[in-house]
Amino acid sequence: MKKRILFGLLLLLAVGACKNESSETQEKAPEQPAKAAVTHPPFNADSAYAWVQAQVNFGPRTPGSAAHAACADYLVKTLQRFTPEVQVQSAPIKAHDGKTFQLKNIIASFNPDQKKRVVLAAHWDTRPRADQDTERTNQAIDGANDGASGVAVLLEMARNFAIQAPGVGVDIVLFDLEDYGVSEVSDSYCLGSQYWAANPHKAGYRAEYGILYDMVGGKDARFYMEGYSMYYAPHVMRKVWNAAHDLGFGSFFTFQQSSPITDDHYYVNKIARIPMIDIIEHDPTTPTGFGKYWHTHDDTMEVIDRATLQAVGQSTLWVVYQE
Ligand SMILES: [Zn+2]
Repeated sequence: MKKRILFGLLLLLAVGACKNESSETQEKAPEQPAKAAVTHPPFNADSAYAWVQAQVNFGPRTPGSAAHAACADYLVKTLQRFTPEVQVQSAPIKAHDGKTFQLKNIIASFNPDQKKRVVLAAHWDTRPRADQDTERTNQAIDGANDGASGVAVLLEMARNFAIQAPGVGVDIVLFDLEDYGVSEVSDSYCLGSQYWAANPHKAGYRAEYGILYDMVGGKDARFYMEGYSMYYAPHVMRKVWNAAHDLGFGSFFTFQQSSPITDDHYYVNKIARIPMIDIIEHDPTTPTGFGKYWHTHDDTMEVIDRATLQAVGQSTLWVVYQE
């Protein structure tokens, strides 16, 4: 996603934030027990970690590469273990540099006939260059956190949905071509989500809300209430953040608001008009606003921590089973 932020919208958000109490920390006591007694299978962080590793093992999943093709097959086969409803949305897409790639958005549906639906998404492609690094900047990165972590959490959720079907319909959408863009060209990132938002996998597709997972496995990650999420889907933000605090994961989820980030959820909100939030690691202490590994060769398995995968996976799994 793009690190540049939109200051105009930030002002709007500052006004909007007044309605949502304050944007300052109002953290609940972590020991507060979960309210409802809906049971669900436990999110297994070892399993999620193994799914990060499995993707990284293919090598960088950059558009057009053999690793990209092999990983797509792997993701489809893995999801088919958990639901027969798996489809690949494919189309030729022209990137900012004039190259055309065969897009592969991978969609897995659970309870396909259920009207009330939730869409869970992450991007599975990885960045073809390490532009934030000081060396080998034109070489592709592992994308363990930026790419593989979100997908891994969703694969583990899919495994759970196969064991115990949630009450609500769920669509897992793995977006392709998220991270190929450059900041100089607007809308050059998030090509898969832009395509899906305009051409959903089912005609007239609607979901009540959505959750996007991006960089959700970093050690000691902090998830702020990202700007576009708060603008388009503040009720979803609060639902997820409250769940995380109720379950004891409050240290990962701060109620503080952060700047808007142009990520896949932006286009899902804007084009498909489905309120979607972004759970994304944000680090206000770094110049880029992201983790130090971001778009560098340090985005490897080294940055992945099971505790973070657990916090994100368990909290959102719980939210889905509550519906
Ligand atoms: Zn990225």
